[in-house]
Amino acid sequence: MSKPESLPTLEDLGDLKGKKVLVRSDLNVPITVKTFDGEEVCEIGDDFRLRQSLATLYFLTENGAEVTVMSHLGRPKGAYVPKCSIDPIRKWLQKFIPEINVMENLRFDPREEKNSEDFVLELIKGQDYFVNDAFGVSHREHASVVGPPKYLKSAAGRLLKTEVDTLLRMLHDPSSPFVVIVGGAKISEKLGVLKALSKVADVILVGGGMAYTFLAACGHGIGDSLFEKDRVEDCKELLESNAKVMIPTDVIAMSKEGEICREEKGGQVIAVDFEVGNDIPVGFKGLDIGLKTTETYDEVIAGASLVFWNGPMGVFEDPRFRFGTKQIALSVANCKGYTVVGGGDSAKALADLDMEGAADYVSTGGGASLELLEFGDLPGLKALRKWSK
Ligand code: AMP
Repeated sequence: MSKPESLPTLEDLGDLKGKKVLVRSDLNVPITVKTFDGEEVCEIGDDFRLRQSLATLYFLTENGAEVTVMSHLGRPKGAYVPKCSIDPIRKWLQKFIPEINVMENLRFDPREEKNSEDFVLELIKGQDYFVNDAFGVSHREHASVVGPPKYLKSAAGRLLKTEVDTLLRMLHDPSSPFVVIVGGAKISEKLGVLKALSKVADVILVGGGMAYTFLAACGHGIGDSLFEKDRVEDCKELLESNAKVMIPTDVIAMSKEGEICREEKGGQVIAVDFEVGNDIPVGFKGLDIGLKTTETYDEVIAGASLVFWNGPMGVFEDPRFRFGTKQIALSVANCKGYTVVGGGDSAKALADLDMEGAADYVSTGGGASLELLEFGDLPGLKALRKWSK
């Protein structure tokens, strides 16, 4: 497995004065289109990733480099889409660093996601060095991520280095007790990371949609909850792994006439306690962990020296099923150990709950953080290692 410290750093690039540096950042933030006086205006939502990207850009410009930054934004699928234009991001960055050049959205060109060599050559034209600071896309073999290091002396940016150091430390040198909290929709999408973490964690607390396949594997009736039949054996294997895997003892379920919404829309909501022999009735779907489970999980989290959390405990988008995720966020906030939250929906849940400060470290990458923990390395990091000292 790769050592995080083997990545080339910004300092390894040497004297930056007058050098042209091409930076791949992950400036992909939510954009909303609003109408003012009949005109459409694109506004930046959560600017967390932009703020996290500044350290590298400041370092390079303050050391005399001429910086061009590039990123994707949204999913334009290889064609120009006005609401995916990088313009609002450029304005935001130039408020802090007026001299910075910001390229238009990389994914307006289909060659970016196809990792086309001629696109790489266009990107690097006239540049002296390359810096990858885009942790959130370093699991992708896209032209702007893996291409430039083939031709230009390259380094990892500040954010990329911090993300990799923080996450890989959990794999290579975790302090104990190490508690992993996993939720989200599907067990199939988290199986790889769960298997990898089950080798190093002391306890794994399971919530979210994936919990119901575990509950079914233990013989509980799960009604119409999310269920992945072909993953039952994997759940049984995990329940017998080195880590102690804990699953909910009670849940909140809703009858199928109810609608999952940002408002409360219909349906009968019931609490189901498996410990007293209840099952989720047919026609009901489990959508959150229950009070007793949050209390048990809170005790485990309180004793942790290291916590990694990925995935909400329930359908937090609907206020009726937000309780479990909120309680776990509070437990993480109160934990005296070092707490790390994987990006994606877990970071979004924290932002929606106004609890961004709950963890010591919030990763900017969802898929990337899970793949790094599963495989111990990423294509974007491998590409940089050619320039390691
Ligand atoms: P992920 O991207 O895998 O972390 O999944 C996040 C999504 O999982 C969120 O949109 C949640 O609404 C959804 N989710 C959480 N708990 C459940 C559940 N019990 N049933 C269905 N979906 C769920």
